[in-house]
Amino acid sequence: MDNTVMFKLTYGLFVLTAADDKKANGCIINTAIQQTAEPNRVSITVNKQNYTEGLIQKSGKFNLSFIDESAEFSLFQHFGFRSGRDADKFADLDKAAYETAANGIPYIKKGCNAFMSLKVEQTIDLGSHTLFIAHVEDGENLSKNASMSYAFYHANVKPKPQEVKSKGKVWVCKICGYVYDEDKEGVAFEDLPADWTCPWCKHGKQDFELQK
Ligand code: FE
Repeated sequence: MDNTVMFKLTYGLFVLTAADDKKANGCIINTAIQQTAEPNRVSITVNKQNYTEGLIQKSGKFNLSFIDESAEFSLFQHFGFRSGRDADKFADLDKAAYETAANGIPYIKKGCNAFMSLKVEQTIDLGSHTLFIAHVEDGENLSKNASMSYAFYHANVKPKPQEVKSKGKVWVCKICGYVYDEDKEGVAFEDLPADWTCPWCKHGKQDFELQK
């Protein structure tokens, strides 16, 4: 099969947030879809490596903030390119950029045009990811900006790749722009384990291309 067919699926982009007694966290997903209108159900799929996935497993609830076309690359860096296991993403976020919803979980105001609060009804184990089917409990519009599509992100938000000079081969993540320099790392990209993931966005080796 020609795998580039997969690039023609359309997606939105969302900050997925959840919390436990100790900490709130958020990550970026492109997998929120309304499944039924009556009752109003939305599904999300989250990588189990994301700290937020564990928070949803524990608490059974989450918020979705809808990223709009005004969002800057820094929003993706803040929530997408590091793990909540190593960082408190709300401790160093501008206080004006978010608020706490009635369910006790923060939602993002800056760069987002709406948010919703959801309660998990069904959890399905998909191996690397978990599929949550959830009931929409609450929601609010935040601006009239157009929602950002994944295609818009790739065309307008993601920085254009900078050429890296190296003695070895240089591999670039097509999703986030992370650079793997074989000379610096000391391990050939092809020799990395099959389940190796991008340190920033957690996508797999298949999403890297050789810098020309
Ligand atoms: Fe990446």
